Amino acid sequence: MKYEEMNPREIDDVLKTRPLAYLVWGAHEWHGVHNPVGLDTLKAYHMTLDLCRATGGVVLPPVYCGFQTMKPWMGFHHTLEFSKELVTQYVFEHLENLYDEGFKAIVIVMGHYGARHVEAVNAGVARFTERHRYPKVLAIRDFDPAGWVNVKGGDHGGKNETSLMMHYREDLVDLSRLPPGELVHGRDGISPNAKESSTEHGAMLARVFVEQAAPKIRELLETALKEWPTEKADGRGF
Ligand SMILES: [Zn+2]
Repeated sequence: MKYEEMNPREIDDVLKTRPLAYLVWGAHEWHGVHNPVGLDTLKAYHMTLDLCRATGGVVLPPVYCGFQTMKPWMGFHHTLEFSKELVTQYVFEHLENLYDEGFKAIVIVMGHYGARHVEAVNAGVARFTERHRYPKVLAIRDFDPAGWVNVKGGDHGGKNETSLMMHYREDLVDLSRLPPGELVHGRDGISPNAKESSTEHGAMLARVFVEQAAPKIRELLETALKEWPTEKADGRGF
C-alpha cells in the first residue's frame, strides 16, 4: 500500500487489479505550541492510509510543499513556504508520472488547505486534465468528505485538527503546552477551540472520512476502468 515500500511485482499486481493512486499534499507549518509542525501532512497521510485500506490502491509518500502558509500570512516561523508555481508544477508532474506508470484513477488529499494553496493544487490538476482525459483525477481537502454529511471538519490547529492528530499520534500532541485562559488566533496562531480536542472527536472525524470518501473513490475507479479508452488517441496519451 505504501508505494515507496513496494517492489515492482507488487506494484504491477495493484495496477492490474486496483490502479488507484493517492497523493497526500501537506506542508510544514506552525500549528500551535501543542502540535507538530507537520500536522497537516501527518494527519492527511494517516487518514489516506485508512482510506486506502478500504478501497485498495497505493499511497504515495506525502509531499510537504505548502503555499500560503502561516509565515507570510501571519509571521509564524517553524514554517516552510513554497511558491504557487512550484506547487502547481509539482502537482502536475506527479500526475504525469502516475499516468505514465499506468494508474487510472488518482486522488489528491490535501491536508493543508488555505484557499490560495488549494487554487495552486487545482491549477496543477487543470494543467494535467487539459492534456489528458484520463486517468480520472479528484482533488479533495481532507475535511470535504465529512462535510458531505454536514460534519464540520477543518480548522487550523484547533479542535478538529488537534483531535485527528491525537487519534493517530497522541505522542505528538501536548495540550498542557497551551497557555492558560482563552486562546487568541492572532497570538497563538491556531483556531481558539484547541482545548476542546479529544481522541474521541478525532476518531469520529477519521471514521466519517473513510465512510464518506470510500464509496466515492470506488465509483471514481469503476468509472475510469469502464470508460478507459482501448486505443490511444495520439500514440502518447489519452
Ligand atoms: Zn492545518
